[in-house]
Amino acid sequence: MRLSVVIPLLNERENLRPLYAQLKEAFSPVAEQLEIIFVDDGSTDGSAEGLREIAKEDANVRALILSRNFGHEAASTAGLDAAMGDAIVLMDADLQDPPQTVVQMIEAWKRGNQIVVAVRRKRHGESVFKKFTSWLFYRIFNYISDVPFPKDAGDFRLIDRSVLDALKQMREQDRFVRGLVAWTGFKTAKVEYDRPARHAGKTKYNPIKLFLLSLDVAVGFSTKPLRLATGLGFIVTLVSLEEATRILVEKIIWGIPLPGYALQTVGLFFLGGVQMLLLGVIGEYIGRIYRHSQNRPLYIVGERINDK
Ligand code: UDP
Ligand code: MG
Repeated sequence: MRLSVVIPLLNERENLRPLYAQLKEAFSPVAEQLEIIFVDDGSTDGSAEGLREIAKEDANVRALILSRNFGHEAASTAGLDAAMGDAIVLMDADLQDPPQTVVQMIEAWKRGNQIVVAVRRKRHGESVFKKFTSWLFYRIFNYISDVPFPKDAGDFRLIDRSVLDALKQMREQDRFVRGLVAWTGFKTAKVEYDRPARHAGKTKYNPIKLFLLSLDVAVGFSTKPLRLATGLGFIVTLVSLEEATRILVEKIIWGIPLPGYALQTVGLFFLGGVQMLLLGVIGEYIGRIYRHSQNRPLYIVGERINDK
């Protein structure tokens, strides 16, 4: 088999050598042909230099140096677009994704599974907050999304050539590669693993970035948020009608004077808030339409090393 390993990275210089050594050791016995594709996503710590050195020693190491930071999803896409293998593995550069798990994935692939996802059993070196939000994320978005995607699985996965060919046809700007893979609907297997802590360096995801990613998923894989907006509008209108009728009846028929402004003020702010929220939801979709209509490339490769 020909195995492609795709690794997007941002400022991971210290991890490159140990990672490369691990990959070589683990994969050389299982793959007849091995290519390792590093995608440097605009690093500023000399990662590109590190990649050039490794690529000089090993012709099977390819590197794409993007012209700037395009984000994890775009960088993954760049690597996937370049991959030539029969099976393609997507993994992180920080040694959080153990190569030994990939060996298990390859076995599952050989049994006829076109997608093999790695599911995290334990997560080391991550805060309780991150674990909780991530737990919540997978549950909420499985509900929102029109296609189910495996819980507690990150980008770490193996896909068959046929899945990659399908993936390459999806060129949307706001990407969530995991979701796109699930969307293709090919036969999926799971492999469990314990996720170790980062080897070196810091995580590139902060809570805000994760929140924005969640928005992308909510909007990108379903129009349920729009439905939710419609439903909410419907409920608020019904309640208002009911209240208006009640007040009219009280005032005109029973002659009860209207008490205070509190209810009116609260109602005003509530409606204002709901309207802004709903405009925001619509805006999210319009933003996506706008970015899509610009039709810009998803990434720009500044330099290709050992390109085939
Ligand atoms: N990464 C990237 N571009 C970015 C942010 C991250 O290529 O803009 C890479 C990063 O170098 C790593 C992978 O994406 O190889 C996952 O990032 P990280 O380890 O920071 O995420 P975490 O494991 O903390 O969720
Ligand atoms: Mg990581």
